[in-house]
Amino acid sequence: MSSQRQWVVSAIAKIQADFQRSADTHLIKLDLPQLSGIDIYLKDESTHPTGSLKHRLARSLFLYALCNGKIKENTVVVEASSGSTAISEAYFSRLLGLRFIAVMAKSTSIQKINEIKRYGGECFLVDSTDLIYAESERLTKELNGYYMDQFTNAERATDWRGNNNIADSIFEQMLNEPYPIPTHIVMSAGTGGTSATIGRYIRYHQLTTELTVVDPENSVFYDYFFSNNKDLISQKSSLIEGIGRPRVEPSFIASVIDNMMKVDNKDSIAAMQWLAELLGRKVGASTGTNMVGVLKLAKQMHEKGQKGSIVTLLCDRGERYANSYYDAQWVMDNIGEISQQQKILLTI
Ligand SMILES: *Cc1c(COP(=O)(O)O)cnc(C)c1O
Repeated sequence: MSSQRQWVVSAIAKIQADFQRSADTHLIKLDLPQLSGIDIYLKDESTHPTGSLKHRLARSLFLYALCNGKIKENTVVVEASSGSTAISEAYFSRLLGLRFIAVMAKSTSIQKINEIKRYGGECFLVDSTDLIYAESERLTKELNGYYMDQFTNAERATDWRGNNNIADSIFEQMLNEPYPIPTHIVMSAGTGGTSATIGRYIRYHQLTTELTVVDPENSVFYDYFFSNNKDLISQKSSLIEGIGRPRVEPSFIASVIDNMMKVDNKDSIAAMQWLAELLGRKVGASTGTNMVGVLKLAKQMHEKGQKGSIVTLLCDRGERYANSYYDAQWVMDNIGEISQQQKILLTI
């Protein structure tokens, strides 16, 4: 075997060993006595070493690139990111001894930038989000590197049939519950990779679960789902970090989604605060968006007298957002006043 092939073998072995040392994430059952007969579960992706569901994506993207011969010893890895993916990719780059550069908007939170740097990653900041793609391509060319391109590759890097993917894990952890096959799974979309994996898995395993994707303000995914127009562009960026995109990303697979729901930013923040109170720890805003979808579906089921379970994701922890979603003044300036009515909507 050539020394290049040997390096790839050892790189994959390092990722597999890292996986072997890791525990699966918890499936938390919420205690909501008001909703008798409707059980709500959160797949807690915040407990990965790098703090979000992007840990799974980064692992898959590295394995995909290595097995496709795209990353070799000394390859510079470049990524366009809003932060969370870059943190997880910096972790795996360090594991493999690779140089890593994250291309991000300069508005990215200082906490995220510091986490990337802690893992030895470099941050290349541009003026606005819409510039990250072209700048990543330019840097990749200049450095003769590899562009991970999560917004294209997220849907194809994960083995959707099973093999320890997030859907496999959820359904296995549900096995001994009163309603083991969820009536609904609710997820938001950034790359769309997670919803693609869950939607395909449900179909492949012939399950009755319906996949609902929730979409924040300023994102085009919702309109694309109903219009099938791939050219949609939004002039503004989503204010809910990690989800909602200004363009239809290639990794967003609408055909495996059963339904979509638009969620107001104020409702997302109200639900985030409500959930943080319920759990006794902070969660990110996209988890709030997920929760709005869950509570709306739970209400519908309740009104129809249906019983069953609903599963969603706790995508990341709230500590990353101490200066934004957990800063009352920031929320007032950027999201607006969270009304009492919004809060009451959550008390089922
Ligand atoms: C990426 C991300 C999501 C959405 O997951 P995708 O699989 O990319 O669609 C949700 N919440 C947070 C915090 C994220 O970083």
